[in-house]
Amino acid sequence: MGSLGKKENKPHVVCVPFPAQGHINPMLKLAKLLHFKSDFHVTFVNTEYNHKRLLKARGPNSLNGLPSFRFETIPDGLPESDLDSTQDIPSLCESTSKTCLPHFKKLISKLNNAIDTPPVTCIIGDGVMSFTIDAAEELNIPAVLFWTTSACGFMCYMQFRQLIEKGLTPLKDSSYLTNGYLETTIDWVPGIKEIRLRDIPTFIRTTDPNDIVLNFALGECQRALKASAIILNTFDALEHNVLEAFSSIDNLPPVYSIGPINFLLKNVTDEELNSIGSNLWKDETDCLEWLASKEPNSVVYVNFGSITVMTNDQLVEFAWGLANSKKTFLWVIRPDLVSGKNAVLPQEFLEETKNRGLLSSWCPQEEVLGHSSIGGFLTHSGWNSTLESVCGGVPMICWPFFAEQQTNCRFCCNEWGIGLEIEDAKRDKIEILVKELMEGEKGKEMKEKALRLKELAHDNAYGAFGSSLVNLDNMIHHVLLLS
Ligand code: UDP
Repeated sequence: MGSLGKKENKPHVVCVPFPAQGHINPMLKLAKLLHFKSDFHVTFVNTEYNHKRLLKARGPNSLNGLPSFRFETIPDGLPESDLDSTQDIPSLCESTSKTCLPHFKKLISKLNNAIDTPPVTCIIGDGVMSFTIDAAEELNIPAVLFWTTSACGFMCYMQFRQLIEKGLTPLKDSSYLTNGYLETTIDWVPGIKEIRLRDIPTFIRTTDPNDIVLNFALGECQRALKASAIILNTFDALEHNVLEAFSSIDNLPPVYSIGPINFLLKNVTDEELNSIGSNLWKDETDCLEWLASKEPNSVVYVNFGSITVMTNDQLVEFAWGLANSKKTFLWVIRPDLVSGKNAVLPQEFLEETKNRGLLSSWCPQEEVLGHSSIGGFLTHSGWNSTLESVCGGVPMICWPFFAEQQTNCRFCCNEWGIGLEIEDAKRDKIEILVKELMEGEKGKEMKEKALRLKELAHDNAYGAFGSSLVNLDNMIHHVLLLS
């Protein structure tokens, strides 16, 4: 531990997540690993808005950090908004890419001038916070990008330029969204035998060549080529073909797969460090006690992550699908899940399921998915949720919302055999899929495959020769410690 007033000789990594839950979680885990494993001094940079939200959800002392694990903030460029809901993602993409760099540079120079902080020696920015590369270039230090997507998702983003050049996006007109065009299959994406346009990240579903998010994604993919390295939270046994195919992309820096980060993190035994959390909503932990009273593999867990929104009609379809399946369920309904208003569930549904359903507003998901009573997960196929489900050996029903969730769903259902897709969220279909997941032949096969993947995830993360552990070490020694 350093004494005040004296610069230490530690490597100093500055970690900059994109300001959304699914990005902050894996970045914080990576930061903890670097601090614990290789004694990095860490500066973790949240946006001012999320810093306030974290303090509200986790208590006023929750971001005090440790002497060598510090929190800092930069503004996100958006107007003030209330602290209870998810910020608009396209607006965040636009404002972070246009406004954060000067604030970030100012922060770096503050850190470099502080008498009690080692000089910044490397920067890890989120894959979509690529302005961090500019700051690193000025200092001539390594700039790593952490894409918090699956490898298949990242690979598809890297094809956006070609999709435009081949005239496949933007769409000619909005009828192309519904006329079967998205069923078109392409066979030229490296490492992916065949994929339908509907499985490509949803930002190609636009008719506007100037679409903000399409162009943002294009720009960030172009900038990925300038990074010193790319990190992905996945593992070789899961996405071998795609990971190998990155070597065919011209000028792409080395890609290190270091997942599942949650498994690697289990080696971290520092309790103070472990107690630093990143949930933007307050965890409701009663569900863990409730789960403990249930039979193994008997509960359907339903959670659509931190961004997905739906209509109240869709919510009601899910409710009746669950009720009619007669299964026990834990359903997390985020306060802002229903767009524009509060979620309203039918009184008859609440009556009918009161002895076998638990509703919650936010839960400690990794613990839930690791609980033996969970038999299946109805998910929006966010990459963290998908990987956390793999780590728990839990098969899924997938209802992808946006971005590369569609790609993750495709891989879960068709490549890994651990998912069933909801194509039409109607109560009858949902009921059939929930029954299949929990008691059908297909459900049993999926469970076996999910358990096998959990073992492989474990093998990749532990032991001297686990590929993710080796990749993490290589990334630290061959990239981060180079400056
Ligand atoms: N999460 C959680 N509790 C909840 C809902 C979500 O802890 O009730 C966490 C979840 O474990 C995951 C992240 O929030 O780490 C969601 O990320 P994901 O990539 O799955 O989806 P996104 O929220 O980005 O759509």
